[in-house]
Amino acid sequence: MKSSTSIRRKVCVIGLDGVGLRNLRNMLGVLPLNGINRVVSKGFVSSFISLPPYTPCAWTSIFTGVNPGKHGIYGFYKVSRNGRITVNVSTSYDVKYPRIFEILGMSGLKSVVINVPLVYPVHELVSLKNLVVVSDWASPKQFIYPKQDEDRYREYLVEPPHKWASAVNVNSYVKAVEAFLEKRIDLYYELLEKENYNLFIIVFSELDWLMHRIPDIVMGKQMNLVYKVLALIDKFIGRVCEVCDLIVLVSDHGFTISRLFIGVNSILARNGLMMSSYKLNIDKLFHRQQPKKCDVGGKQGFNYITSRIIRNLFEVISVVTRKIVSSQALNKLEAIVPISTEIDYSSSKAIMLEPANWGIYVKEGYVDLVKKLFSNNRFVKKVLHREELFWGPHTQEAPDLILVPRDHVFFDARIHAEPMYLDYVSEHEPHAMIAFYGDYVLPATSMDNPINVSIYDLVPTILAYIGLPIPRDSDGKPRIEVFNVGFYNKKYDYLEKFKMLRKIKQLKIGKGGKVKS
Ligand SMILES: [Zn+2]
Repeated sequence: MKSSTSIRRKVCVIGLDGVGLRNLRNMLGVLPLNGINRVVSKGFVSSFISLPPYTPCAWTSIFTGVNPGKHGIYGFYKVSRNGRITVNVSTSYDVKYPRIFEILGMSGLKSVVINVPLVYPVHELVSLKNLVVVSDWASPKQFIYPKQDEDRYREYLVEPPHKWASAVNVNSYVKAVEAFLEKRIDLYYELLEKENYNLFIIVFSELDWLMHRIPDIVMGKQMNLVYKVLALIDKFIGRVCEVCDLIVLVSDHGFTISRLFIGVNSILARNGLMMSSYKLNIDKLFHRQQPKKCDVGGKQGFNYITSRIIRNLFEVISVVTRKIVSSQALNKLEAIVPISTEIDYSSSKAIMLEPANWGIYVKEGYVDLVKKLFSNNRFVKKVLHREELFWGPHTQEAPDLILVPRDHVFFDARIHAEPMYLDYVSEHEPHAMIAFYGDYVLPATSMDNPINVSIYDLVPTILAYIGLPIPRDSDGKPRIEVFNVGFYNKKYDYLEKFKMLRKIKQLKIGKGGKVKS
């Protein structure tokens, strides 16, 4: 092992959120993308399976090299069950295994980390002094760490346009995403060229947002709508190829078209397993009636109208609650009257929280019943117990059951969704992509046998390439077959050190306990 030279190798990981190998080939087929083409055609490229194909857990698996049973992330929400189900938002503290940039940091090597999920709050990251961090789109606030960098680059910290679902007009949404990336990419160039690092990680979420909003892109149509964003990313990749020794292009899942939807929570509700309650939204009521309040003059007038409406409403609500009304009726009702339906966690026996992680949380004693309910659904390929998919100390925090949908089938977690309906929507699917390009990388075409790369291989492969020991209990392995050079193959217990550093960190801050955002 030639340590002194290899320790200075620069690695760049470029994440393309949602771009599976098939999606990428679609893009390359219709658009001139020289940077990406260079990586894919001259390097090693492979597809791999990402289960469940969901952004927060998949990126955390990629950057830890372990499965969610070891890192503890199953979605944007964190569920705890002490007799009843409680739901919190996942934070950086909930990642229970060191990520590659923390592993490098523990060894004194520096990383730049851009738009990686679950880096907020930043002070919970280990080896922070070796990190430059730009917040991800889901962060409660946009930030750059350290503070002096935030001061320097503040103008680039525009809000991410990730709410693709609420964008009314496709063209104006595309424009908003383009404007966001055009602004941000200057920051990425600055950090790429000016910072000192061994590892540069950047995740681009823009293509995920656009594929969600415009299903045709997934079909290889309307590619002009994605061209500008792709061209910006492609040019950046071209520059990265000049600056770094090893370039890794990776995605967390692919995209496909779903045509049939299963209303998981509505099925659970119809079987008495999920309870919901109806809440009168007084704020909304007040807001709606404001003009009338002015007309009548003074608060009294408002109160009079309000009380009449509330009385009428309660009549409606009592009718609604007496039976499960048709979902369409209730959807309409919710649009007109200020009531909202909420999941009643304390009395529910089973719920799906995030459809994209395919999981159902089930109360003790009801697992067999729920499993049977969905095993009989011909659009569900398999119903897995969490232990069939995850292993490690945090397996107990996983949803109890994982529904594997058939191709082009997806889930709807809305309480009043139809149990089954047809639609044309783009959704995540498990075929992700990884490509290596750079010094010592063998092109895939030169290999006799295909290599089955796993989602966990990125961490050990990069560590071995840089010349650091690989994690003792990694779920992946260094893919030395991809390189024509000898690799470092010692192992080290980073997890133990990580736990210790976190403990020290908390004693220092004087919190002594768990931090919630
Ligand atoms: Zn994603």
